[in-house]
Amino acid sequence: MADIDNKQAAAPDSASNFIHNIIDKDLENQKYGDRVHTRFPPEPNGYLHIGHAKSICLNFSTAEKYHGKCNLRYDDTNPVKEDMEYVDAIEEDVRWLGFEWDNRLWASDYFDKMYEFAIRLIKKGKAFVCDLNADQIREYRGTLKEPGKESPYRNRSVEENLKLFEEMKEGKYADGEKVLRAKIDMASPNINMRDPVIYRISHTEHHNTGGKYCIYPMYDYAHPIEDAIEGITHSICTLEFEDHRPLYDWVLQELEWEAPPQQIEFARLNLTNTVMSKRHLKALVDDGVVDGWDDPRMPTIAGLRRRGYTPEAIRDFCERIGVSKANSTVDVALLEHCVREDLKTKVESRNVVEDPIKIVITNYPEDQTEEMEIENNREVPEMGNRKVPFSRELYVDGADFMEEPVKKYFRLFPGNEVRFKGAYFITCNDVVKNEDGTIRELHCTYDPQTKSGSGFEGRKVKGTIHWVDAKTAVKVKIRNYDYLMIENEEGENVLNPDSLKETWGYAEPAAGDAQPGERFQFFRHGYYIADAKLTTDEEKVFNKIVGLKSSWKK
Ligand code: ATP
Ligand code: MG
Repeated sequence: MADIDNKQAAAPDSASNFIHNIIDKDLENQKYGDRVHTRFPPEPNGYLHIGHAKSICLNFSTAEKYHGKCNLRYDDTNPVKEDMEYVDAIEEDVRWLGFEWDNRLWASDYFDKMYEFAIRLIKKGKAFVCDLNADQIREYRGTLKEPGKESPYRNRSVEENLKLFEEMKEGKYADGEKVLRAKIDMASPNINMRDPVIYRISHTEHHNTGGKYCIYPMYDYAHPIEDAIEGITHSICTLEFEDHRPLYDWVLQELEWEAPPQQIEFARLNLTNTVMSKRHLKALVDDGVVDGWDDPRMPTIAGLRRRGYTPEAIRDFCERIGVSKANSTVDVALLEHCVREDLKTKVESRNVVEDPIKIVITNYPEDQTEEMEIENNREVPEMGNRKVPFSRELYVDGADFMEEPVKKYFRLFPGNEVRFKGAYFITCNDVVKNEDGTIRELHCTYDPQTKSGSGFEGRKVKGTIHWVDAKTAVKVKIRNYDYLMIENEEGENVLNPDSLKETWGYAEPAAGDAQPGERFQFFRHGYYIADAKLTTDEEKVFNKIVGLKSSWKK
């Protein structure tokens, strides 16, 4: 397993990071005057995930910090068909995280400029049309140890290159028949500089430019031009592009761009128990392994939102992990810790029991119901109390009773007395069983003297459990989640076949009328949200956001 970086729970230090240090210097030297302009450039080929959140937070917060600007730019230079369906989702996610772009732009709007610039490179003798096919190009490229070989087409005249490139654009050639390559250095120790392909032929309609182009620019050529046209100052990307930076700089230098943007790389986010590539996530959706991009088990922003995560928790997480130049894997427990911390002081508590056992309090008046006052949030007294009905028949959690208690079990068992949270001391007397031996109900008695809040100072009991009044109980569905990915014995990440466990329980009325998207702490269980899609007036379906206990080790 990858090294898990446990240091990162340290106090958030958003005040500064190595990227901000670079920007500080640039401002001092007036490299771009007083301007700071970043961009977030998603390819609209899938939903955004928690890794993208790191990039979004970094780019937008950096712009905010320096009173600069941040563009949302769709990197749509690859003419993929289903592009457009993701655009709305991307915008919803960025806004939900709490950011607003200064400009919303499309890289494909610069196709004409990119074409014009390619001609400029040809005229300078810095680009040539090559007839080698993909396999040959790979073969000629050489290896890390050996220099490459020059293409036999490398020394075509400017006139010939201009004519052939024009013909490529006119559609005279089939996909792969010719490419345009930058003329740099086949002996460069950096393979990216060995005459990289900058335009390829693809007879594919583009959502924006339709059939206008059948040649499309390669990422390494297009990206610096996109940044430069938009006046980006600091182009922040992930570490895989570090070796591509010389090419980024080469393109802008050959185009004689004044004050060209600079690329800065940071380590991408990796999380334990999480797949984080759109390709893999798309496969999970397409194969029906999950129920859509917003399945609450997905690491997508949409999935986390539906799961019950808050934007504050995700932003806090992104600050805590910080930005660095070293790749590492963050423990997913830190993400869980962040949402727990955020919800702790925000949501109200409710009584909900799972795997219920019925309780009959035999000495409690049959027709009586009391309204018990229970605090909404133990940590935040200002959140007040609510009234919870209590009567002769109740339900408790299946886990709160043991017919034959194990050592140190302080909850209900025959002969034992416990506190019913916010109500009375209750003693379990008899276990009443069905014919098949299963438990039908527990017969208990209460001590009227011990009413919560009455100042009763008599006996002490060791266990406190929660309960739901049977008459007013609302049956709710509960979806408990485990990680989508787990490690097998060989240490590989594989799909967890048990990532969703659906169960049901009884809720007190104040949880039984939850509205979609409403969050609670289920007392002693964890944090839950009424699923935004599945919750109706008739049926409440809760997603478990996170348990109460942290597995996060500081
Ligand atoms: P994936 O590999 O998941 O498909 P991608 O890099 O192809 O992601 P893009 O839409 O191209 O996805 O990414 C938009 C921006 O988000 C890029 O600047 C990219 O560097 C950044 N990004 C993507 N994944 C991560 C990650 N795991 N951590 C940090 N930044 C990321
Ligand atoms: Mg990409």
